[in-house]
Amino acid sequence: MTSPTIVLYPSPGMGHLVAMVELGKFILHHHPSLSITVLVAPPSFNTGSTMDYVRHISATVPSITFHHLPAVSLDLDAFPSMEAVIFEVLRRSNPDVRRALESISPRVSAFIIDFFCTESLPIAAQLHIPTYYFFTSGNYILAFFIHFPFIHRSTTKSFKDMTGHLLHAPGVPPIPTSDMLRPMLDRTSSDYQNFLNFSMSIPNSAGFIVNTFESLEPKPLEAIRQGKCNPGGNTPPVFCVGPLLDTENRRGGRDEDECLKWLDKQPCKSVVYICFGSLGLLSAAQLREVAVGLERSGKRFLWVVRSPPSEDKTKRFLKPPEPDLEALLPGGFLERTGERGLVVKSWAPQVAVLNHAAVGGFVTHCGWNSILEAVCAGVPMAAWPMYAEQHFNRVVLVEDMKLALRVEQAEDGFVTAEEVERRVLELMDGAPEVRKAVEEKSVEARAALADGGSSVAALGKMVDLWNSA
Ligand code: UDP
Repeated sequence: MTSPTIVLYPSPGMGHLVAMVELGKFILHHHPSLSITVLVAPPSFNTGSTMDYVRHISATVPSITFHHLPAVSLDLDAFPSMEAVIFEVLRRSNPDVRRALESISPRVSAFIIDFFCTESLPIAAQLHIPTYYFFTSGNYILAFFIHFPFIHRSTTKSFKDMTGHLLHAPGVPPIPTSDMLRPMLDRTSSDYQNFLNFSMSIPNSAGFIVNTFESLEPKPLEAIRQGKCNPGGNTPPVFCVGPLLDTENRRGGRDEDECLKWLDKQPCKSVVYICFGSLGLLSAAQLREVAVGLERSGKRFLWVVRSPPSEDKTKRFLKPPEPDLEALLPGGFLERTGERGLVVKSWAPQVAVLNHAAVGGFVTHCGWNSILEAVCAGVPMAAWPMYAEQHFNRVVLVEDMKLALRVEQAEDGFVTAEEVERRVLELMDGAPEVRKAVEEKSVEARAALADGGSSVAALGKMVDLWNSA
């Protein structure tokens, strides 16, 4: 019998592609006889880095095959958000996805999609291929999405007009409407509709593969498995296969080696690391405020600084230019803090940084990968959300999981220098419960991925299903 082919279909954008490839590597590591093909979504933005990455993986993991979907032409300026662009690119690619699924041989036994790729689910259903979602965020938000159609039907208002309301989903702490996913705040937007479509499609999928581990988020997992999030309806099985980390997340910049060498010279757990994911940009005023807060804290720091967002709408989706640190940071800041701080331009090798013995705290934007990376490294967090589902993540991290301190923000997200100073001091010198909880989860994360661990067992169950399909 030929071994099954598994097709992975991530949405555009490096983060989604990298996460899906990590899943492919994990599958192949434990089940090397399977064939893995990755459909590479048409280039829409950040093309160069995507292609470099695909070439790198093709060279280093030749058992993963890449199938490139043809380009679609799109006027990016006509779209209100990056999410809207992604949904439209994928919608237009559907005929090519169908052709790919029909042409891949041996026959496709499982189609694993990103949640942005929801509209390809009916295509796979027509071809009688079971479709699994690969969820690159956690079980809390999955529980919320499974329950979301009920919340949608319970009101006619937009979340942005429901100030002070709390949203309730089984297994999830009450979520203030103001902490809902940024693209879902306006009920009349296409983004809201796209997320609702995803939620409504969940019962039609064969299962959810989640980048988490069983003991990290047990409450929502239990609620999902008991069918409480979709009472009266179908809830597909959930397979927790994480934490899957991109341990090679290096972009090859000169500063990357420099920051690891600098960390080598710092005392154990003395450095606070500040980084806002792959896309987080601070305004010029906010950068100065962070600098003042860091300087006043007196703590050692490693800070990834990017140029502020461009005011030119046509540059929204482009990578910002390298920051001019002298111009952006307060006069004399770099000289005054040079002994105890390092400012890195644009990018740091985050996984290596978090696992360095010198790092004792992480000010994070609460992207799911950053959270998992901190958990695995056992580094406590201060939560400063910016975009996407990060405000939601902050609520569960602080209120339920107790793995992070809350950074107080003004309504527009601004954080004062006083708050930066206070929170950095608390993170580095206090917060014993948070430190203890993160260290415990770090041990559990390693156990989940070890032979016989829960994530390896979940993968085994899934592969059994594929083999018998
Ligand atoms: N990352 C990194 N160096 C940086 C910024 C980000 O290596 O300077 C990596 C980080 O380790 C993580 C990913 O980029 O793997 C960011 O993913 P996350 O889900 O945290 O946030 P997103 O960028 O999707 O908002």
